Amino acid sequence: MLQPFSWMVLAGRLALFYLPFIVVGLLTGEVLLLLLVATGVLLFWHYNNQKKLADWLWHDRSMIPPSGKGSWEIVFNGIYKMQKRNRVRRKELANVIRRFREGAEALPDAAVVYKTDGSIIWCNRLAEAILGFRWPEDSGQHIGNLIRTPVFIEYMQGRDFSEPLEIVSPVDAEKLLELRIMPYTSGQNMLVARDVTLIRQLESMRRNFVSSVSHELRTPLTVLKGYLEMLEDVPDANQGMMGKAHHVMAEQTTRMDSLVEQLLTLSRIEATPDVSLDERVDVPAMLNIIEAEAVALSGDKQHGFSFNIATELFACGDSDQLRSAISNLVYNAVYYTPAEGNIVVSWQPCREGAEFYVQDDGPGIAPEHLSRLTERFYRVDKARSRETGGSGLGLSIVKHALSHHQSELLIDSEPNQGSRFGFVLPSQFVSTD
Ligand code: ADP
Repeated sequence: MLQPFSWMVLAGRLALFYLPFIVVGLLTGEVLLLLLVATGVLLFWHYNNQKKLADWLWHDRSMIPPSGKGSWEIVFNGIYKMQKRNRVRRKELANVIRRFREGAEALPDAAVVYKTDGSIIWCNRLAEAILGFRWPEDSGQHIGNLIRTPVFIEYMQGRDFSEPLEIVSPVDAEKLLELRIMPYTSGQNMLVARDVTLIRQLESMRRNFVSSVSHELRTPLTVLKGYLEMLEDVPDANQGMMGKAHHVMAEQTTRMDSLVEQLLTLSRIEATPDVSLDERVDVPAMLNIIEAEAVALSGDKQHGFSFNIATELFACGDSDQLRSAISNLVYNAVYYTPAEGNIVVSWQPCREGAEFYVQDDGPGIAPEHLSRLTERFYRVDKARSRETGGSGLGLSIVKHALSHHQSELLIDSEPNQGSRFGFVLPSQFVSTD
């Protein structure tokens, strides 16, 4: 084991080196000259070792540094040890990278790592298959040169990756891909692409199925309703047991009719996600009609209504969808607020665009239900909902209609404190002229 560098050892070595020169100097009476010669020899030795080190660092490719004596031995050996340590570390690092790559290859998704300036650093094999990238040929290429879809370029330039993006695969027009981008390390992002063709196909099949079934149910229901209405005029059919049966049948047919209507509305809304901004929607006029209907619906319950409507505030978007959203919220307040309760409806401009809300002092909703209210067929109190004829589809319709207008349903409710259902329409969907 070599002695580490120490001033004591160095001083000892220097003394040993100079001693013979001093002795000879004393004997010959030329101490100064011999000290000078000794220093010259020492300097030459140091420069020679320094040169050996420089030659090795710059030209020699071997792992082992030059050998040296004295203080240089410690330096050379130190460098050798450092080299060895670095080699081990490099090996470990290479292993980590290999393991990462194997892991990334095992992913069921295409993964691409790129610098924030867009140049590709690495991609896995699935990225080659579904995005058409080539590895390693495409290393350093700009990602926008390989995925040329305009929506993708726009998405990349927008730099808001909180929502995924769906595009058609650049290599297969039949395939739909869902892209997600997330920060990877500083200055790098990771793009993950997933094939969602099958999921979208299944969703579309489900939508078509619900829509077809609802359509098919309409005709038998109309026939049933027609005959039940006819029976109302037959005196015998409205008495005793028959009368009761007739009443229940009429009630259930109406329920089923409204359920089919709601299913059709939901299908229609789901099928038209792209709303046109060209259509101006006269929300104040719409709310006038809804107010009259709400008063009629309230009937004997004598709710106190207050409609605060900005009469000049129009919307841009799909009038059917907005009517469905607004009317469902208002009718729900009427259905669920007990007699003589108060209902406030507001449509006013706000900083982000326009705000709509319906506030009631009804029973309110317990917190555990709030996040599930917009699920299809979800009802807080099934028995009560049945009484009101509710199907659990209303808020689902609202959610879909609003999402097509880049808005979302905001629910604020506490048991026994009433409820507030509302949404904010972003400014591009609002028109004031
Ligand atoms: P439904 O057709 O049953 O009314 P919705 O989807 O419209 O279905 O509403 C889901 C559930 O949310 C309802 O069953 C009801 O329990 C609750 N809800 C909706 N609006 C209100 C309200 N204003 N006050 C209290 N509960 C409400």
